[in-house]
Amino acid sequence: MLRLRGVSKTFGGLRAVQGVSLEVQPGEILAVIGPNGAGKSTLLNLISGLLSADSGRIEFLGQDLTHAAPEVRAWRGLGRAFQIVQPFPEMSVRENLMVGALYGTPGTSVQAARKVVERVLELSGLAGKAQHPAGELSLLEDKRLELARALATQPKLLLLDEVMAGLRPAEAQDAVRLVRSIRDSGVSVLFIEHLMPVVRALADRVVVLDYGQVIAEGRYAEVAENPKVREAYLGR
Ligand code: ADP
Ligand code: MG
Repeated sequence: MLRLRGVSKTFGGLRAVQGVSLEVQPGEILAVIGPNGAGKSTLLNLISGLLSADSGRIEFLGQDLTHAAPEVRAWRGLGRAFQIVQPFPEMSVRENLMVGALYGTPGTSVQAARKVVERVLELSGLAGKAQHPAGELSLLEDKRLELARALATQPKLLLLDEVMAGLRPAEAQDAVRLVRSIRDSGVSVLFIEHLMPVVRALADRVVVLDYGQVIAEGRYAEVAENPKVREAYLGR
């Protein structure tokens, strides 16, 4: 459903992403891993449209979105959750999700948005916190809210950049279950993660970046054994 062909991005003289080609299949959970500075976040920003590619092509559901604005990509079904969660703190959890549901898809009626929000509250395990001010949640609930906000925009592919950062292992396991249930609800997932137990537990397939290039691709067990991958991690 997502296809990148030879995508590159340079910052000044720095080639942050160099000729990256990859695909995400419908229903798949794909992990992108690599050492610090490998270009993972840049790649995600190129997909969501926060950055525009210098060269290459980005297709989503058969359409060329290489030069589309971020909101157009979001409307087409590319959802994005952020590591740094910034809800409207005084508004309730439910109200925050209403904002996502109303603005994530053009032409959504209030009634349709309400339905989406109730479904997403259930899926994310936040139904019990629906009335709480979003600024008074625990870290794990913050992460749930950020995933729920992204889901409220009704994505077909969800992009996650280290959303588990800062969670304790038991909490991360909880978040892993949530991402699985998101996939089971019919949403594909592309995630960046530096916690290897999370990658092993979640990813159907792993793409490894180093110095902006894909150096390996395959199942977790395969890439973990790959000498190039080991060297990339040890060399930093
Ligand atoms: P990762 O997420 O894998 O840690 P990033 O994509 O954040 O890596 O960064 C890749 C490289 O690009 C790094 O060397 C980083 O310093 C550089 N970089 C990222 N964003 C910018 C920017 N906006 N301007 C200049 N350099 C950047
Ligand atoms: Mg990053």
